[in-house]
Amino acid sequence: MIRLLFITSLFASLTTLLYPATVLAEVRDLVIVHTNDLHGHIKEEKDYAGAARISAFVDEQRSQYPGVLLLDAGDAISGTPVSTMYKGLPIFRIMNAMKYDMGLIGNHEFDHGYKHIKKFREIANHPLLSANVFDSNDQLISDGANRLLEVNGISIGIIGLITETTPTIISPVGNEGLRFLDPAQVLKEQVALVRPRVDLLVVLSHVGHEEEKELAKTIQGIDLIIGAHSHTLVDPIIKVGSTYITQANRYGTDVGYIQLSVDTETDSITRLSGAPIPASELPPPDPEILALVNFWEDKVKALVDVEIVNSSREISHHELQAIFEKVLASAADADFGYYNIGGIRDNISVGPVTARHFWNIEPFENKLVTLTIKGADFLTLLARENEDHSIIKTIEPEKVYKIATNSFIGAHATKSFGDSVEVHDLGILVRDVLIDHVRANGL
Ligand SMILES: [Zn+2]
Repeated sequence: MIRLLFITSLFASLTTLLYPATVLAEVRDLVIVHTNDLHGHIKEEKDYAGAARISAFVDEQRSQYPGVLLLDAGDAISGTPVSTMYKGLPIFRIMNAMKYDMGLIGNHEFDHGYKHIKKFREIANHPLLSANVFDSNDQLISDGANRLLEVNGISIGIIGLITETTPTIISPVGNEGLRFLDPAQVLKEQVALVRPRVDLLVVLSHVGHEEEKELAKTIQGIDLIIGAHSHTLVDPIIKVGSTYITQANRYGTDVGYIQLSVDTETDSITRLSGAPIPASELPPPDPEILALVNFWEDKVKALVDVEIVNSSREISHHELQAIFEKVLASAADADFGYYNIGGIRDNISVGPVTARHFWNIEPFENKLVTLTIKGADFLTLLARENEDHSIIKTIEPEKVYKIATNSFIGAHATKSFGDSVEVHDLGILVRDVLIDHVRANGL
């Protein structure tokens, strides 16, 4: 072993002597496979690929090419019964089996409180990056702002970012005292730090597609932004200035795929191709990953794979919003119901609708609450939710209303208006209210 090391290092020094670094520089190839906003969709269903088919595709690439990177751009958890019941932990265990190289903290990684992110970091074999979120002691809550790695002779820098709007879209409970900095400002500093040290600079961004285009416009020196959060299918991959930008939809309907060549002398991309690949074009499931997925799915099967109703039609997110509002208002005997559209995470397809589907629609364990709130304050809440809701027209600012909603909106109302809003928790999950209603009355 010692002799082998000696020979290797002797050979390495000889090589360095004969070929100084400048001569060794050359065009090297890299393949990047990336996912974003998987939201716990480890199982193949609807047009979601599932972890086992994504993994089979990655393994194909790894056997064909010497340099393959597997990256995730955040919101890996929250969206399925397995994720909800086991607080996101199985998702990172499965990502380990898939051998991810790098991950990112998205806003939904805060769903169980920010202290729980430490558990994700402990389980994940890959670093979970984020450069712009700090706890009350001014410590990064991630594994780091950036990481440098070497793949197939290319030195690669990866910087992680999260949207500054996170505090308004996560539950305030368990997420007290966090500080989210402006991604543009932090990225500028990070690029200055990392760019001189690498051949290729990649940003893993949980900021959203429109904002990512702005970052590319205003900050020079980024080769590639792998985006997330807006659930955008970027096909073909776009270029803003000298920065490529991509994103692979959500829930694993598509897997991001990029083939590129990097000139390690000029530190630039000489060729880039690829596009997100739809689930239908991925190879059959990898048996080992499928067994792991089934191990977790089997634990929840008896509870969630139970038929509740048969739907004769497709029901959209917006229709479900209206149904939630009506059902919650009647269950809580309120003036009316309000349900944030962002809290509805799936639609209903034609055919048997199981409890699993309701978990996919409402994975957050939100409870039914009533708000006793002044019209003006409620309008402020709606404006912050950025929602163009039909009830806005009917609200009188001076009137006090009793509104049925979910505990997420309740927590934000308390955070914004303190004691001037009365939040009453009825102690029932909104998902259960909906399931009971549908069982009795159909859809
Ligand atoms: Zn997100």
